[in-house]
Amino acid sequence: MMAENIHPIYHRLVQRSERETANGHRGAVVWMTGLSGSGKSTIAAAAERKLFERGVFAQVLDGDNVRTGLNGNLGFSLEDRQENTRRVAEVAKLFVQAGAVVLCSFVSPTRAMRQSVADIVGDDDFLEVFVNTPLEICEQRDVKGLYAKARAGDLKNFTGIDSPYEAPLDPFLDLRTADLTVDEAADRLIEALPL
Ligand code: ADP
Repeated sequence: MMAENIHPIYHRLVQRSERETANGHRGAVVWMTGLSGSGKSTIAAAAERKLFERGVFAQVLDGDNVRTGLNGNLGFSLEDRQENTRRVAEVAKLFVQAGAVVLCSFVSPTRAMRQSVADIVGDDDFLEVFVNTPLEICEQRDVKGLYAKARAGDLKNFTGIDSPYEAPLDPFLDLRTADLTVDEAADRLIEALPL
């Protein structure tokens, strides 16, 4: 660690409050958690599009754009999952400083993992959205064929099958996708945002 040789210049940079005023809305981290196939990425993408069309600076972070680049050197061990989450949280925090609404779509199965994100970005900027879809429905959808693999024993430690998912106890928003279309879920999310 070379922290003693780092000289912050934050005070010289354009401030978050200035950016938020210019953008016309506040920044925040919308943390979408839920089982694989619950609809996190689909709803995040739909919400990003709707927000963008309303002139909101919105950005999705998900496994596709993070694990391929920044976190391309990480696997799925507990240690690597924690490091993956830490880096995503730090990137999300930078985006919030830029005034963005960051839609983060990650299974993040444990409460401790999600708390670590809240600790990094700060409670005031952390909005936990539970994409609440029963396992049976996620398994029927099986978008990526991963549940079939996990049931066949070809994929170990798969969340919901042989690795636990801890549902949020008090989420900012609970989206029950079994009762909503993607469009409705995205609308609910946008309406709830304190922008
Ligand atoms: P995750 O990111 O949680 O792993 P995905 O968004 O990749 O999940 O996949 C969810 C799948 O479920 C998509 O194919 C989506 O079209 C489908 N789906 C069907 N109904 C809904 C709904 N009401 N909300 C979200 N996704 C839905």
